[in-house]
Amino acid sequence: MAGPTLASSTVSGFGLDPEFAATLALVLADCRAAGYDFRISQGLRTPQTQADYYCRWAKRTPGQIDQKASELEAKGAPWVAGLLRARRSIKRQKAWLTNAMPGAGWHQWGLAADCYCHRNGKMVEAGDDPCYAFYASSAEQRGLRAGLYFSTPDAGHVQGPHESSAANAYAWSRIDSVMRSRFGDKPAMAVPAGL
Ligand SMILES: [Zn+2]
Repeated sequence: MAGPTLASSTVSGFGLDPEFAATLALVLADCRAAGYDFRISQGLRTPQTQADYYCRWAKRTPGQIDQKASELEAKGAPWVAGLLRARRSIKRQKAWLTNAMPGAGWHQWGLAADCYCHRNGKMVEAGDDPCYAFYASSAEQRGLRAGLYFSTPDAGHVQGPHESSAANAYAWSRIDSVMRSRFGDKPAMAVPAGL
């Protein structure tokens, strides 16, 4: 009988690429079998949301954002550049969020997810807890790349592609056309709940 399995239902609704989602569901099932309760907290993050995060940092000035947008335009990414320009005067916050351009992160491709271990009703925040070592090892055994092994460890993050970012895998002109075709003219629909 067709239909989602119990395992895949744990990762549905997060906008993930179907093949990546199926593999991630197996990783979470591995964790469950070992007694670790992992739950996904973020999957797809739209380029609009990524642009919000990029521009919101108080130390990033409108002039610096204009400069980044010009660089993107020169690389053949006018649509992504426009996302930054539209947010150059967005309300700022003190806490740093990201250095990644919209479209460069695998979250924008539905090929990355952040999952956290829950224990006794609470999220395990220590990235060096053994639960994250198990999760990362299971992810790598199943062909994913675990953020725990990044030069700046990101214990909850896993992604499908080996390249650290889409900007290392594709030309900016290609990133721009894929992002525009998937997310152009429908930002309200594309923004997932809970952000
Ligand atoms: Zn992530």
